[in-house]
Amino acid sequence: MNQVENQFVGREVSVAALPVSPGVAIGRVLLLSPEAENLTIPEETIIDAADAGAEIEAFRRALAAAKEELTVLRDRLKEQLDSDESGILDAHLLMIEDRGMIAEVERRIEAEQRGAAWVFYQVIQRYLKALAVVQDDYLRERIADLRDIAGRVLAHLANRGAVSNPEGSLGRIIVASGFSPSLVAGLDRRQVAGLVSGSGSTTSHAAILARSFRIPAVAGIPEDFRMELKNGDLLIVDGFSGRVILHPAPRTEEAYRLKGAAAGEFFSSLLGERHLAPETVDGFRVRLAGNLESVADAGLLNEAGGDGVGLLRTEFMFINRNAPPEEDEQVEYYRQILRAVGNRPVVVRTLDVGGDKLPRGISFKPEENPVLGLRGIRLALQGRSSLLRTQLRALLRAGVEGPIRVLLPMVSTVEEVRKVRELVVALQADLSRDRLDHLSHLSLGVMIETPSAALVVEHIAPLVDFLSIGTNDLVQYTLAVDRGNEQVAYLNQPTHPAILRLIRRCVEAGQAHNIPVCVCGQMAADPELTPLLIGLGVQELSMAPDSIGSVRQVIRGLNMRETEAAAQIAMNVATAAEALNISRDLMRRAAPKLAALTG
Ligand code: PEP
Ligand code: MG
Repeated sequence: MNQVENQFVGREVSVAALPVSPGVAIGRVLLLSPEAENLTIPEETIIDAADAGAEIEAFRRALAAAKEELTVLRDRLKEQLDSDESGILDAHLLMIEDRGMIAEVERRIEAEQRGAAWVFYQVIQRYLKALAVVQDDYLRERIADLRDIAGRVLAHLANRGAVSNPEGSLGRIIVASGFSPSLVAGLDRRQVAGLVSGSGSTTSHAAILARSFRIPAVAGIPEDFRMELKNGDLLIVDGFSGRVILHPAPRTEEAYRLKGAAAGEFFSSLLGERHLAPETVDGFRVRLAGNLESVADAGLLNEAGGDGVGLLRTEFMFINRNAPPEEDEQVEYYRQILRAVGNRPVVVRTLDVGGDKLPRGISFKPEENPVLGLRGIRLALQGRSSLLRTQLRALLRAGVEGPIRVLLPMVSTVEEVRKVRELVVALQADLSRDRLDHLSHLSLGVMIETPSAALVVEHIAPLVDFLSIGTNDLVQYTLAVDRGNEQVAYLNQPTHPAILRLIRRCVEAGQAHNIPVCVCGQMAADPELTPLLIGLGVQELSMAPDSIGSVRQVIRGLNMRETEAAAQIAMNVATAAEALNISRDLMRRAAPKLAALTG
């Protein structure tokens, strides 16, 4: 251990991790304990000694405001419920009056000359960590209460106007053993420069969100390195190569600043190409659509010049809230998306929860193997049919106002598709009875993300209007590799010939039944893999909007005849590495500047 300690003290140390979200981040470390999940992380503001009194005053006012809120809530609960339930808030009130906690925050504001929000957050994190390891169940359950109180106090502190912040230009690099999708969804994007995680991989849902938030991120950071990081350490995160550098020397810092600026310039220059058709030199046109996680992402898609939304992951509408959205709220949400993308086609995926995505408002029975468990369409068809019914009713209604298509996640059998078709017919009858305007034909598609669906795709294709290949899960289930586990990330091989053959099967089924076939997994966003996908005959790619420019540039440099021949060879080689090299060579020739930047 001593050796490890010496290794990291003060001098530049660089380690390799998995790049999961592109970009360069230079910032100060903020260690996050899993217990602090969902708290908004405040800025570290440095204050003058003379301002400590004002900060302490602000802290006391925030405590008092949170206390008042809780008292009102408790009194209201008392009227509505029995005394046991309102007693929960009595416990909250006791915590907010904890003298030890208050004294520590006030002392540290003075001693460390930091803003109240920052100090309070540090103290609460320590309390949360301490609660997480106690044996007593009752005390451990207080974690959620403490988080709730802390959230209220922080919200009041955040609303009182900014304090001067000399270090404000340096964002925070959040370091954690792992990030859940709900944690990333709750981050304040303006304050977070980068993410460093112990676990995860390129296709983990937290990584997908980081990319959609444009936050550079790496996963699989070595444990001994992570354990040595301290709050406030200067860190560089290179989300292109996966390199992480602690205590960078000024020259290193400058080199990475330049790299970040060059990448920024290159990607901005791609925006200038947004009006060019994504078409190969010999005239094969590809549709490039966007994967969206929220309405806020629509702006990025419009900026990138995408052909509509190829995948709207609706689970992020359900995450971080206490109850699922009602039908009317959903109708409004889908309408907003349609408006935000100028009424271009929007493919809405029905709720895909379970696995690593567990919204607070839906209760889940613990499972031994959640990724093989009640996830996606399975959950929707077994016992939770009201979630699917509400969502489909909302989609049938919103679809009257624009081109909405519906996509089913995690399908593994033909029966699942038939059941949904039957449900849609029943819901259409209900809506007619309710005299609500709705679609008389719903365009329905299936995600091909299990090997069983890919292998019976010729039986699925006649039942649907389109297919969309979810390569993140298709790789996970075909190679038997947990997509969130950094230890087996080397097996996350989208160019494995088994995957290429399954994709080709889907393309052939689509051609035979005259329906479009899209790829919407991370593979579609990787310009190095564009030649293979196009060569396999995929006509539509859907990806994080930020990737559209690069993929368009590669397509415009490809020759379809050559690309098809290369894909034929790649399907028949023995290893993923050989197939990857074939694709890479074509990409380098098609877009040399891009290759130089990302290589
Ligand atoms: C996929 O599995 O490829 C996909 C697009 O779905 P998600 O990443 O949301 O599981
Ligand atoms: Mg999937």
